[in-house]
Amino acid sequence: MRIILFGPPGSGKGTQAELLKDRLKLVHISTGDILREAVKLETPAGKKAEPFMNAGKLAPDELVNEMVADRFRRSDRPTDFMMDGYPRTLAQARFFDNVLRQQGQPLDAVIFLEVGNEECARRIIGRRVCPQCKRSYHIQDKPPHKPGVCDQDDAALIQRDDDKEETVRNRLKVYRETTIEIIPYYQERGLVRQVPGEGDIETIYKAIAKAIQ
Ligand code: AMP
Repeated sequence: MRIILFGPPGSGKGTQAELLKDRLKLVHISTGDILREAVKLETPAGKKAEPFMNAGKLAPDELVNEMVADRFRRSDRPTDFMMDGYPRTLAQARFFDNVLRQQGQPLDAVIFLEVGNEECARRIIGRRVCPQCKRSYHIQDKPPHKPGVCDQDDAALIQRDDDKEETVRNRLKVYRETTIEIIPYYQERGLVRQVPGEGDIETIYKAIAKAIQ
């Protein structure tokens, strides 16, 4: 099973990816996570990407593409995976097709989670993440058992810098103006499965599971 989880920032891709990882054993590949790790480690790629991320803009295609290609060149490359936050431009979508073609691993589906702008903003601004295991929570919708602390490993939860309101508005604008353009590209190949992304987490998970069966 090879899928792309697609939707605006705050549509619940990360939350659903956690469920798909636990239940269907799909490998979770998040370019946002890869980039944040590169920023933390102060690698050349991380240093290049950081200003774009802080401004809520997209990092350059070549940089992100290279990171993804690298992940698929490794001997432990996944055969069952879900992409989260990639591709985000037509150039990335075309590049990713080439990577998968070389591996002989065509895509099975693009899950398109649809959520309105204001709901996305509310979700992102209330989001808190565990810096260690990357699990994500929400102060109202999915609070941890102990306030401010990860259920899994007791680490103090943080708010991502780019989850602050001003940056969130930019990220949503970039999504509506650029990222959404890749949907017709996959629609032409009959890969897109639209799933309403508002409602409770389990219901959305069931809709995704049904869409990829
Ligand atoms: P995310 O966690 O997926 O919301 O990504 C956080 C930030 O990382 C985005 O706002 C972008 O600045 C950058 N980023 C992540 N994935 C990509 C991508 N596929 N293309 C360009 N920039 C990306």
